[in-house]
Amino acid sequence: MSENIIALGGKKQSMLIDEVKKLLTDDGNLNLCLTCGACSSGCPATGLDNMDPRKFLRMAALGLDEEILQSDWPWMCTMCQRCVYVCPMKIDIPQLIFNIRAKRPREERPKGILGSCDMALKNDSCSAMGASPEDFTFVVEDVLEEYQEAQPEFKDMQAPIDKQGAEFILNQNSREPVTEPDEMVPLWKILDVAGVDWTYGSKGWGGENYCMFLADNEAWEHITRTAAKQADDLGCKIFLNTE
Ligand code: SF4
Ligand code: SF4
Repeated sequence: MSENIIALGGKKQSMLIDEVKKLLTDDGNLNLCLTCGACSSGCPATGLDNMDPRKFLRMAALGLDEEILQSDWPWMCTMCQRCVYVCPMKIDIPQLIFNIRAKRPREERPKGILGSCDMALKNDSCSAMGASPEDFTFVVEDVLEEYQEAQPEFKDMQAPIDKQGAEFILNQNSREPVTEPDEMVPLWKILDVAGVDWTYGSKGWGGENYCMFLADNEAWEHITRTAAKQADDLGCKIFLNTE
């Protein structure tokens, strides 16, 4: 046996080792992780809760299931994928984190993420802040009118909702229409100046997808299908995810 092979398992019964192996090529060879630390260097969650992606992966690979499952660190991962991008072995750590999140009973997952996902399921907007299609339409039209009047150079600017056949369909983080509506306008201006044929959908426009962060596959699918159906119903060609 080569001396650089780490013997794993020991007396502990580990289920996470199997999760890690599924993420690796070469028949789940755990030695594919070079422990180079590139993942940790660019991770925004490095240092939180005394953890980083390299340490987390090693703990999972070494069968420290109990410690991993009790840790809150998996909930601090932003799912940004930077670690996958820089990893020389392309190890999908966020997928491991997602799988670990899904092991926690739904009602015990962080309240903020749980509440935002549940709110997004309440109406067709899929807005984590609960804004309805009617609320969204009212705010967009109101803000648009204000800017058309106040800035003559943008008097013809449009912010369409449910425009049939538009080339691009955009989603929108709910925070802007609900708390900072003026923040929507810079993107509208760019699209106007570029002459882009675009629209929002009145359904599925909420771009934040807390159900994905909650690791609730069923709810995540519902949110994604609602947005995709709206794009199909309008005959739009390209879905532009602004999140
Ligand atoms: S970047 Fe990849 S190979 Fe390097 S420590 Fe992280 S997971 Fe292991
Ligand atoms: S996906 Fe998660 S673990 Fe990877 S770099 Fe982003 S925050 Fe860190």
